[in-house]
Amino acid sequence: MAKALSNNVYYEYERSGALVIIIRASMSCNALCTHCSTPPQKTYLLPDKAAIAVKNTVMLYEELNHEYPREIDIVFHGGEPMLLGTAYVTDLAYLMNKQMADVNIVYGMQTNLLLYNDWRKLLGSNMFSWRITSSYDFFSSFRKTKDGRNYFDTWYDKVKQYQDDSGKRLYTICVLSRENVNRVDEIMEQAYSYGLNIKLNMLYSAGKAKQMEKSLYITQEEYGDALIRAYRIWKTYNNSGFLFAQGYDFENIVNHGKPAGCPYISSCVGNIFCLLPDGTLYPVSYTHLTLPTIYSV
Ligand code: SF4
Repeated sequence: MAKALSNNVYYEYERSGALVIIIRASMSCNALCTHCSTPPQKTYLLPDKAAIAVKNTVMLYEELNHEYPREIDIVFHGGEPMLLGTAYVTDLAYLMNKQMADVNIVYGMQTNLLLYNDWRKLLGSNMFSWRITSSYDFFSSFRKTKDGRNYFDTWYDKVKQYQDDSGKRLYTICVLSRENVNRVDEIMEQAYSYGLNIKLNMLYSAGKAKQMEKSLYITQEEYGDALIRAYRIWKTYNNSGFLFAQGYDFENIVNHGKPAGCPYISSCVGNIFCLLPDGTLYPVSYTHLTLPTIYSV
């Protein structure tokens, strides 16, 4: 089945240079991963407040870039954004369309997929066009469900439904740590055979991960070495539709002089903003800078 799947277009949007607004309306999650970087927060951003904040973000973008955005890429993030319910997203979309009728708004989501059944209709609609990303860390003990079910089995069951419904590979982020860095060849082979596209991130110290054993963190040299090994495996699948995000970036540098590493790199300055549950907004390239309660400006 994997060979018949096409690419998830999320990847192209990620590199489009359009205004990206990441909405983290709630940090609640229905999973219990031990390396979760999301700090617990009780606050929740209502759709009407989020719509005003988005509009204000567009005004800020205009101020920084001296042009009105032709397109806005809204990415729902969390916590687990599916917990917001589909009505949250459709209400917010309605309000944003009313306020900004002259701009094209596209939607995406980073999700653990556990509530996929409730969302499949909306994800397949013109709003999302199946543009979602998910995460799974192969050969790692970090991913946990709340009810003790095996994380991979629970997650992959939803992945298969997504693949059947959309006909697309699922863009999946895999965290590399001491537990799995030496198995990167197998990670690439599994990603291919499970019908995934893959991005390899390194474990970083944030949220719950700060309390983890220091020995679980890998060095930048180990990470770089793992990416090279992953690239070599990926090349053996050339032209199969299987995407390795960092491999693709690497080839873009060599062939076209495009930036690599973080997909946004220089294009993120003034383009990517993250909206938090308490209404604060931060420009992603300046994470030390937050703008207070922009929805009330
Ligand atoms: S699924 Fe994501 S947000 Fe939820 S606990 Fe795991 S890492 Fe954290």
